Amino acid sequence: MTQHTYTRNAIAQMDANDPMAHLRDRFELPEGVIYLDGNSLGALPKGVNERLQKAVTEEWGKGLIRSWNDADWYPAPQRTGAAIARLIGAGEDEVVVCDSTSVNLYKVLVGALRMRKDRKVIISEQGNFPTDVYINAEVADMMGYELRCVAPEDVEQAIAEAGETLAAVQLTHVHYKSGRIYDMKGITEQAQTLGGLVIWDLAHSAGALPVDLNGCNADFAVGCGYKYLNGGPGAPAFLFVASRHLAEMHQPLAGWHGHAKPFAFTQGYEPHAKIDQMLTGTASQLGLIALESALKVFADVDMSALRKKNQQLGDLFIALVEQELDGMGFELASPRDGAARGSQVSLTHAEGYPIVQALIARGVIGDFRAPDILRFGFAAPYVSYQDIWDSVSHLREIMKTGEWDQAKFKTRQAVT
Ligand SMILES: *Cc1c(COP(=O)(O)O)cnc(C)c1O
Repeated sequence: MTQHTYTRNAIAQMDANDPMAHLRDRFELPEGVIYLDGNSLGALPKGVNERLQKAVTEEWGKGLIRSWNDADWYPAPQRTGAAIARLIGAGEDEVVVCDSTSVNLYKVLVGALRMRKDRKVIISEQGNFPTDVYINAEVADMMGYELRCVAPEDVEQAIAEAGETLAAVQLTHVHYKSGRIYDMKGITEQAQTLGGLVIWDLAHSAGALPVDLNGCNADFAVGCGYKYLNGGPGAPAFLFVASRHLAEMHQPLAGWHGHAKPFAFTQGYEPHAKIDQMLTGTASQLGLIALESALKVFADVDMSALRKKNQQLGDLFIALVEQELDGMGFELASPRDGAARGSQVSLTHAEGYPIVQALIARGVIGDFRAPDILRFGFAAPYVSYQDIWDSVSHLREIMKTGEWDQAKFKTRQAVT
């Protein structure tokens, strides 16, 4: 038996001393739910519903097309980008919100490769998020580059081996399954020293960790609006282009919103000089309005304090899993060291899928990632230390009673 180090009382004290505890009030969370999936779909911030009601009823319903000007719809991609820029260490004029992460990765990657036409190699990770893998592969094939996907621990060596043939490195900063964090500064510097460019996917970083793109001299980045940024299902994504690259950038989805003068309606394409050049078509305005409103949650939040809390939530979860679930078949699939791990902890278990379903039936919402990963995200603005204790207690009950072992928990749904 492992040593019992945590008690329920000690955990109540952790909540009482939590400087981030007040943030939970900024969210609409249903009674009886412990939400450990903010890394997949962030919770609903208060005020977003009202903001959307106003957008639909007043701005769309009454303002009609006038609202592109009168309600400031038109500059929303840039304005929302500036709000995200603060969270990721970028300049306000280096981030824009548009399209999906997948589409933005395509635009940025093709643009980056066009800046490295005389080079051959793209390095990425084996086991990267599938959309990143597919887009890297399609773009490499279409443009005649060689894609090398290597194990996470071999990335630096692969970059070194590519040497002067290195065109680009594309990595997800925080791994979606394991939560492992790459050394953004070190890898960026290593690739740039060889003349390569780096594209970071910040899907599991933005809103969870204090990212410092300019402090790392990053070239390009993309990321999600609906995960830790709480923008709502399918919220528009963001992209970052370092201002030093804007003049040379040539993105492949040239559309009228990226034009220098969209409302001149000219036939020849002339890219906008600023980050606006990364836009393609008309913004998904209701999605943008929800995201912009949701970002108010972060307006006065110290990201390093938030980071400290999610690290501690993860540490506590791991300690309690080891304390309470010893010998039940769980293995840690995330780095134990909190500094090397994003805002999530993954476990493996042979019966992972039904166990997650049984947890969800008890109101503890995590998710499952094939083949055997139980994934728990700790969005520090609304997850408490008590939630961690209660989740592990539920998990223990489910295992001890065999509650997970029922047919109703074993049928896979479309979204896991
Ligand atoms: C969630 C996620 C995406 C999602 O891309 P969409 O285009 O929004 O579906 C992309 N990359 C990573 C690493 C992710 O975790």
